[in-house]
Amino acid sequence: MPEVEQHDYDVVVIGAGGAGLRAVIEAREQGLSVAVVCKSLFGKAHTVMAEGGCAASMGNANDKDNWQTHFKDTMRGGKFLNNWRMAELHAREAPDRVWELETYGALFDRTADGRISQRNFGGHTYPRLAHVGDRTGLELIRTMQQKIVSLQQEDYAETGDYEARIKVFAECTITELFTDAGASGQGPEEAAGVTTQGPRSHRDGHGRIAGAFGYWRESGGFILFRTPAIVLATGGIGKSYTVTSNSWEYTGDGHALALRAGATLINMEFLQFHPTGMVWPPSVKGILVTEGVRGDGGVLKNSEGKRFMFDYIPPVFKGQYAETEEEADQWLRDNDSARRTPDLLPRDEVARAINEEVKAGRGTEHGGVFLDIASRMPADEIVRRLPSMHHQFKELADVDITAEPMEVGPTCHYVMGGIEVDPDTGAARTPGLFAAGECSGGMHGSNRLGGNSLSDLLVFGRRAGLGASAYVKQLTDKPLPTDADVAAAATTALAPFDSSSSADGENPYTLHAELQQTMNDLVGIIRKEHEVRAAIEKLAQLRERYARVAVAGKRPFNPGWHLAIDLANMLLVSECVAQAALLRTESRGGHTRDDHPGMNPDWRNTLLVCALDPATTDAPVPGVTVTPADQTPMREDLLALFELGELEKYYTEQELAEHPAAGS
Ligand code: FAD
Repeated sequence: MPEVEQHDYDVVVIGAGGAGLRAVIEAREQGLSVAVVCKSLFGKAHTVMAEGGCAASMGNANDKDNWQTHFKDTMRGGKFLNNWRMAELHAREAPDRVWELETYGALFDRTADGRISQRNFGGHTYPRLAHVGDRTGLELIRTMQQKIVSLQQEDYAETGDYEARIKVFAECTITELFTDAGASGQGPEEAAGVTTQGPRSHRDGHGRIAGAFGYWRESGGFILFRTPAIVLATGGIGKSYTVTSNSWEYTGDGHALALRAGATLINMEFLQFHPTGMVWPPSVKGILVTEGVRGDGGVLKNSEGKRFMFDYIPPVFKGQYAETEEEADQWLRDNDSARRTPDLLPRDEVARAINEEVKAGRGTEHGGVFLDIASRMPADEIVRRLPSMHHQFKELADVDITAEPMEVGPTCHYVMGGIEVDPDTGAARTPGLFAAGECSGGMHGSNRLGGNSLSDLLVFGRRAGLGASAYVKQLTDKPLPTDADVAAAATTALAPFDSSSSADGENPYTLHAELQQTMNDLVGIIRKEHEVRAAIEKLAQLRERYARVAVAGKRPFNPGWHLAIDLANMLLVSECVAQAALLRTESRGGHTRDDHPGMNPDWRNTLLVCALDPATTDAPVPGVTVTPADQTPMREDLLALFELGELEKYYTEQELAEHPAAGS
């Protein structure tokens, strides 16, 4: 077996975005030793790229705001498919998590009277996004890293070693999780003492988490973490699509690692295509234009100069949005005296509207629509409010957003689906495995509201850190990986080198490009049965070809090898997306079936649960099974927050019989 360096920790957090860092802080505060592992540089994660802000009902911009309204907006945005307990915890705890960041040293933008400023965003009833210009994620990461440094300084004062309790392993990619399969471990829900609306049962035979295996990006050397608890915080899956706001790391690793360790994924058919990715010029294709542009007054126009969003207010939102330009503009000045602009409908609605305009021939030359902030406010005000947007597009594309409209269209942005977890503890089905942030599923239902990710990371990163710590503390023995498991993980990682001399070796870049095109064209923003079936066939061919994936060169810094490893994850996760998209015969949130338009109340309460197909676990890319399962019905006091009339748009008659106002 090749040389493998070895480390022992109480908790290993995989991912150093917002969710991962918040979990690290919490586990360390519980007195445990924590490793944080990240694929790219420490500090480079999607969280850093988050622009618009962090949603929390602090009520600073409108004192009518409260957690109940945030909860209701989140459920509406997710089309009532959300895990309601997660949505409740998120809405209740987000304000405290934002305040807590200020105690770590964050400094949010201020209102004139010194309170944290909050901006408008799609689907939020009140201005709710705490922000730092359009660099909110950067501030979030900066302050959590600062908090980690301060904890390391405390550890140094006590032990003489800065890394006694927290150590960062940057540019280190995890490729495998180990369990003590066969041993009978206590389930995580019992361990954490909470069970509300989490994974419905534990998978037998997979054992408890025992460790993680990976490689250093620079040297290609192998590394083993022996640990009883792992928090996955690996972010999204966007790199399986051609047009995406996601960067190179987002290959669904956490989703795939969890599946292979016996956990389940839910809601994988729901992908968010952010409506405003740049479509032109090519140097910025797919790059995000924050919703903050529309929150601050920017408007969408078609090639005829028409503000078309007034034509696309769907029946479920009728009456809640402005019907004229005058009313929409009045709302931007004072959101108590008018209804909100339809430019800020939830993202799935806006993305579909743009798609329709382009299809109807009213798009721009390059297949998008115009997003105009230039004609809506003075140039210096735009630069003040949106400094990164202005700088980025000027530098990368010579587009001056203070002088001309942007050309925008949908870009694959966020995955609502993810690892099925217990809402209170973040525990996945595999004992010792926890997940938080974008790689976990349930919180956002079928569609995430903008700004609800940063708050999700803080709320559930903390809870997963707590959950993992509680789990570790109650263990009476420490599960350990076997030498055979470690050797097998090394063999799997090195397999692409073995095929390098074979004549029918497959190039990972070619396979990746074909995968991206397949997902983009056949399981993209608008889906049809025959296209999804064609995608599933193509994925089967790609899986078969992947068995011969070949890379040249040696292990030190070899991007082709890294991609070959990532590809297995992308193929596995794409299969989940495609299979679930085929099964769900309705359109809801981030899943639009052209052949099944409209929401079907019979599907509202159904989760599609993806698991590894046990017959294929030894294949280079295993198969998956997708099984429908019911969600736990919403708690009565939460259900009572909604008018019966609104719920009738989503629920079946039978379900509504449970509503406190039913029959009255
Ligand atoms: P990330 O921040 O994505 O971090 C994932 C981490 O996992 C990284 O450190 C990565 O290196 C690591 N990793 C992945 N795989 C491995 C592996 N195999 N081994 C080791 N490490 C691994 N949301 C909002 O709420 N408001 C916004 O304004 C907003 N703007 C956005 C703008 C852009 C351009 C983008 C792309 C997203 C935006 N989002 C926004 C969404 C939000 O930023 C992300 O959903 C969120 O940051 C995800 O955080 P996370 O902690 O789950 O993961």
